[in-house]
Amino acid sequence: MKTALSPCPAFIGGEWRTISGNGVNPVYNPSTGAVIAETPLGTAKHVDEAVQAAHDAFPGWWETPPIDRARILFRFRALVEENFEDIVRCNTREHGKTLVESRGDVKRGMEMIEFACGIPSLLMGESLENVAKGIDCDTIRQPLGVCVGITPFNFPAMVPLWMYPVALACGNTFVLKPSEKVPLTAIKIVGLLEKAGLPKGVLNIVHGGREVVDALLTHPKVRAISFVGSTPIARHVFEVGTKHGKRVQSNGGAKNYVFLMPDADVENSSRGLIEAAFGCAGERCMAGSTAVVIGDASKTVIPALLEATRAIKVGPTDRELQPNMGPVISKQHRERVEQLIAAGANEGAKISVDGRGAKHADEPNGFFVGATVIDQVDSTMTIAKEEIFGPVLNMMRFDQLDAAIEMANKSPYGNGASIFTRSGKAAREFKHRIKAGMVGINIGVPASVPWFPFNGWDESFFGDLHMQGKEGVQFFTQQKVTTTRWFNYGEGDIWHKEK
Ligand code: NAD
Repeated sequence: MKTALSPCPAFIGGEWRTISGNGVNPVYNPSTGAVIAETPLGTAKHVDEAVQAAHDAFPGWWETPPIDRARILFRFRALVEENFEDIVRCNTREHGKTLVESRGDVKRGMEMIEFACGIPSLLMGESLENVAKGIDCDTIRQPLGVCVGITPFNFPAMVPLWMYPVALACGNTFVLKPSEKVPLTAIKIVGLLEKAGLPKGVLNIVHGGREVVDALLTHPKVRAISFVGSTPIARHVFEVGTKHGKRVQSNGGAKNYVFLMPDADVENSSRGLIEAAFGCAGERCMAGSTAVVIGDASKTVIPALLEATRAIKVGPTDRELQPNMGPVISKQHRERVEQLIAAGANEGAKISVDGRGAKHADEPNGFFVGATVIDQVDSTMTIAKEEIFGPVLNMMRFDQLDAAIEMANKSPYGNGASIFTRSGKAAREFKHRIKAGMVGINIGVPASVPWFPFNGWDESFFGDLHMQGKEGVQFFTQQKVTTTRWFNYGEGDIWHKEK
């Protein structure tokens, strides 16, 4: 039986609209393989309408006092909480992650709204009296204007919420282009912001692929661009956006190492590694996709890890009985992941647990890949260099921490790196020397919470100011420094005359 397609409207100037232009992109339920919606691929004309709507809404929104902007965000947060399970199910249905993982995705997004609710304090400037005799100096932060967010498929709730709550709280207006693979969760959440009382045109949604992205990057009325996605596109967004005079923060892909020291706690480290490698079916920019096994850790942690990997059940996530791990995003992506596993074997690695060809009896068309562990990987292999973005854990073995750090530091990426150890000294050395912007000590996925920057380095990030935390507020504002001197009291100044 064919299921009815979910609507996928654009949101321009406060109106939900059906758009058409460059055809559609099918949205799947990865658990079943069924098409559940079609994302319209818009054109430069839709971008122009959305940017114009945001541009027109900007003066009124900027003049709205920060506390009033925050009040809308407080109401928004309450509505997200009220509709939490509905959002979670929509997220799981279009993405495929388990319900527990979807709850995490939405909760992390809610934390960003909570952060943005503190905007009156976050926006405060600085001042200094008597920078010279009788002269004072102060700074204020003002919004930029129209800002843009372009988001990936893997966190349909959280990643858009990394961007627009802070951008709006700072007084900007916004155009969001969600991933064409998972637009429905973003639409649902923005609907709640509308319900919370956001004025028309302050936030807009357009849908599309390259034409829409390029139109956003080059539009003369766009001031800033936030992007999250794969490294080649992140670089493209940064280069084209900055060439056209925009401020750009552009998060790319990653390859994250999890170091296992010989003294690591076996149970906690294998659990942490399993969660890091296979959580969200490995479709995370902070996935711990390579275990770096030092010395005798191979004898203690690896047997526990292999046993736990074999026990992971993959299956459909859109129902009450939950598997340990869900499907990957598409049939093409499943094929790519399986081809990379094969490339590992062809180049001489040893497949210790093979998740290729995984099937689920109830859902023969779901996009399943079983949890996979590949041992004896070396840094020349394709699987060591390419981001696999699936449930595949590479293992590399080293005798010493020094050589392992040296290998990891040659990676072009720099998102996250973790170490499991009982030694404070080893942890300290690792933290000091590892070339990554987010470090975990006995934490498998050291993704930073909203009060800290989401801090990729190198080819995992292009730009200066990261998303989240104070850097997020700085990104979405420009500073004004005022130097003030008053020569004499005004004529009508009673206080002065009385003196
Ligand atoms: P993607 O790069 O394919 O797509 C991201 C966005 O770019 C989408 O909105 C898409 O429509 C747009 N896009 C795709 N191709 C384009 C093109 N040729 N020109 C212009 N725009 C284009 O990424 P994805 O597959 O949706 O997401 C997975 C990637 O995102 C992984 O590499 C992952 O590591 C990365 N990611 C990074 C972070 C981070 O914070 N560093 C967080 C989440 C995901």
